Amino acid sequence: MYKFLCYYSFILLLVCCQSQKTAHLGGIALSFDDRFVKEWIQLKPLLNKYNAKVTFYITQPDSLSEEEVQILHELRKDGHEIGCHGAMHVRSMYYIWDNSLEKYMENEIFHALRTMKKQGFLPKTFAHPGGSQTWYSDRELLKHFSLLRDVSMKYRNILGFDYIHNVENMEEIYHQRNHQQKVNALLIDVSAKLTIEDIRKGLQRASKEGSVMMLFGHKPLTKTTQNTHEYGFDVQFLEQILAESAKLNLKTYTMQEL
Ligand SMILES: [Zn+2]
Repeated sequence: MYKFLCYYSFILLLVCCQSQKTAHLGGIALSFDDRFVKEWIQLKPLLNKYNAKVTFYITQPDSLSEEEVQILHELRKDGHEIGCHGAMHVRSMYYIWDNSLEKYMENEIFHALRTMKKQGFLPKTFAHPGGSQTWYSDRELLKHFSLLRDVSMKYRNILGFDYIHNVENMEEIYHQRNHQQKVNALLIDVSAKLTIEDIRKGLQRASKEGSVMMLFGHKPLTKTTQNTHEYGFDVQFLEQILAESAKLNLKTYTMQEL
């Protein structure tokens, strides 16, 4: 009898552990960088249609007009996050090399945070401009932000060689809900040459393992405005991404929710 009880408890424990492991629902976290505020607000009906909450990373906030600040407040009221993307939009590694960490924190970070505070925003997460960073600047940044977002791309050209990644195998773009504070998002701009099949495979992985697939883009482009030289993504592609994630019942997350 005792043996049986031990065995039974062991099985129960195993089942509990398993269900705890899969307690998180898979999801998708979309973010948009720079300051295409008037273009982003055009996404409102699409985002509402899929009940998608996303993050807008603002750079050079002191150059925003009063109207643009109001639009950002409207987006925030809809449940979106307004994050920080620097006052100058510099690549931290090079800026620190040429100046100092103190100057970087003052001119790129504190300057942006002060401006955004005056505008009524308190950013909790930060996106690295140009995706360059060093461990010692990250250590400093994590004193002011709960999460730092870097950049991942399907195609990378290193020293003249093209490297193509399988999107479903890019570990760094899946947040495992483990308090990870340095994360990467996959670029969805036209220049990144992603296909909906890439996205589908990535979302299926997120759904299966309960992780959150992180994606980001810049300016929303419609067919008429599309130009591969522009920093932007196809709005129809975004709609396909949202539709695919809805099919899998994936929840959308803002970056600070991760
Ligand atoms: Zn940027």
